Amino acid sequence: MKVRLFEIFTSVEGEGILYGTKTLFVRLAGCPFTCFYCDTKESLPLDSGLEYDIQDAYQLIDSNLKKQTYKVNFTGGDPLIQHEAVAKLAKYVQDKKIPTYLESSCFDLDRFNHVLPFIDIVKIEFKTIDSEFVDSKHYERLIENAINCLKSSISTKKTTYIKVVVSSKTQLEEFTTLIATIFNSVSKNQIDGFIIQPTYGIAEPSLDLLLNLYDIVYPYYTDVKVVPQLHKFIGAP
Ligand code: SF4
Repeated sequence: MKVRLFEIFTSVEGEGILYGTKTLFVRLAGCPFTCFYCDTKESLPLDSGLEYDIQDAYQLIDSNLKKQTYKVNFTGGDPLIQHEAVAKLAKYVQDKKIPTYLESSCFDLDRFNHVLPFIDIVKIEFKTIDSEFVDSKHYERLIENAINCLKSSISTKKTTYIKVVVSSKTQLEEFTTLIATIFNSVSKNQIDGFIIQPTYGIAEPSLDLLLNLYDIVYPYYTDVKVVPQLHKFIGAP
């Protein structure tokens, strides 16, 4: 089996509920989506990065784990594009008793369920329609997939949290509908966090807008947090 990796590096989590913790990042190449704020655009082409035999990828992970990293984050691109290879890599890491972490937009339940047994921590990213993730015709279907992945992650008792990236383009009405859809499907006690992440450097939302978005989530989930991408402030990748 082959896998295409864009990069592998140790850094500090700059996003989500685990921000500030040291992690080995394995960035998979490839993502078919088109979020306007994407900050890993170089890794979107399916032929970006380098191709490795899976055995060579294991060795690459081993050599990086020597830098004392305490968990491995499979990110992208979107790691589910190469779900079979990610499942193998994640199992390899889990067998070493090192926690594994998946960051994905969760666009496909079958691919997600293939990887899930080998993942301990799951970030489910819900896209707003104004993210330009996909065209409006396909948007509802993708949200449905993300909801199904969320339920699957919860039912298998993974540490599961939700992230939504917001920008100055985010519309309150559409955000309200998205949040209602999420919490009609799962209850607040089933998730381990809800992060509103403002875009950085492009169409940044105002504080007023962030507070309004916070107020929309709060009635459903009082532990909601607005967390910017902290790694950008320390110049980390
Ligand atoms: S899903 Fe993620 S990697 Fe893909 S375009 Fe959107 S932000 Fe970039």
